[in-house]
Parts: sequence; C-alpha cells; structure tokens
Amino acid sequence: MRKKVIAGNWKMNKVLSEANSFVDEVKEKAPKSDKVEAIVCAPYPFLASLVERSQGSQVKIAAQNMHFEESGAFTGEVSPVMLKDLGVSHVVLGHSERRELFAETDETVNKKTHAAFQHDLTPIVCVGETLEQREANETMSLVEDQVKKALNGLSADQVAKTIIAYEPIWAIGTGKTATSEQANEVCTHIRNVVKEVTSEETAEQVVIQYGGSVKPANVDELLAQSDIDGALVGGASLEADSFLQLVEAGT
Ligand code: 13P
Repeated sequence: MRKKVIAGNWKMNKVLSEANSFVDEVKEKAPKSDKVEAIVCAPYPFLASLVERSQGSQVKIAAQNMHFEESGAFTGEVSPVMLKDLGVSHVVLGHSERRELFAETDETVNKKTHAAFQHDLTPIVCVGETLEQREANETMSLVEDQVKKALNGLSADQVAKTIIAYEPIWAIGTGKTATSEQANEVCTHIRNVVKEVTSEETAEQVVIQYGGSVKPANVDELLAQSDIDGALVGGASLEADSFLQLVEAGT
C-alpha cells in the first residue's frame, strides 16, 4: 500500500515568523499516522529554522528548487549539498512556474533529479500540460515525454523513490481543479509510463500526486482515485488549518 503524501508548496509567500508558527502548529496537530506524510515546501531562507522546529515530528521540510552542481560560481543558486546539510528531506523539481518563468528544461530537471539522489534528497518532480496543449489533445504525450526525460538514467530503485506530481498548468491557482477522473486518467498514464521504463513492481511503488487548486473541499474525492497518492498544494497550504485538513484527508 502506497502512503499518501500531502505537500504544501508555499511558493514565494510568508516571512520567517509566519513560517515558524505554521510549522509549530502543524507539528502539534498533525495526525500521527503512518498512512500519510506531510511535507512543507518552503523558501530557502526559512529552511534551517523549519528543519530544526520540525524535529521529532511527522512534518518533513522540502526546498522548492535547487541547482544540480554541488558548489561553484553560480551566483544566487543553492546546491543539493547545502540542502542536505541543513536536514532538508525533499526538493521540488521542474515546477511549471520554474519551467515557464525561469527557463527550467527537461534536461535540467533530469540533472537535478540525479543530483537529488546523489545527495539523498527525495525529488518531487512536476509535470503537466498547458490549457492549449490539453485542447490540442497533447496531454498524454507531453506528460509521457516529461516523465521519461526526468527519469532518464535513474536506477529502478531511484525511480521507485521519486515522487511525481501531475499539475495541469491550467488548474494552478485558477480555482479550476481537474475533475478527479481527468486527474486520475493522467496519473494512471504516468504509472504506465513508469512501468514501461522500469517494471510493474517499481511502478506500483511510485507516489503520484495531483496538484492544481486542491483544497479541503475536493481533496477526498481526488485521493479516492486509484492512481492519486497525494497532493501538491499551493494556495490551500498557506493556512495551517487548511493544510492540516488536507493531511487529515490522507489518513
Ligand atoms: P494551487 O494549489 O494554488 O493551485 O497551486 C498548485 C501548485 O502549483 C502547487 O505546486
């Protein structure tokens, strides 16, 4: 049985005091269940503090991006070595906002995925289509291509540990959720792609999240789908109360 993984992606929001009190509250109130994992994906300046505060709790702390190199002349970048040293456990890679606004490519996502495993960080690899691509019936082929390129060269063991987040771009921050059937259809396709590049056994282990306007009101239906193992949540993860309801839904 795969765990449900609920990850809150704060994007570029909050200041340190707000971030700290969120994690303090979630640490205290999060359900103690091994069926669900709660992850907070926070901006870099908060990571050290949040890792420290989350010690001894169910809550894991993730970065929202990283560079693939270990160190060097890359002004403004953060390396996997730095994240690991802080005690960060996960890293979001290839979010559509990084792809669209910061020139992230399938190639850099693949390099970063390899770098994450080299440093014992669990990658949350994001894929998903634009509205234009959906309307042109390109969703399945586009997502398949993104998944294959992101996972290229990983061992089966590494693929099994990768979290894949299917986030249709047209559903992000728009209030338009994909229907649970639409979301599941793509997540099932992703699992089949993983099976094709590895094995059925590996594909059965991969956690596949859905993201795009997930909130307490629609999370149960999404999580009830056969191939949706969690959610990557933006807006509804900013308040501790709402994030806790989402985590509770995973139990
Ligand atoms: P929203 O939940 O705000 O639609 O954002 C989804 C997302 O991009 C999470 O990474």
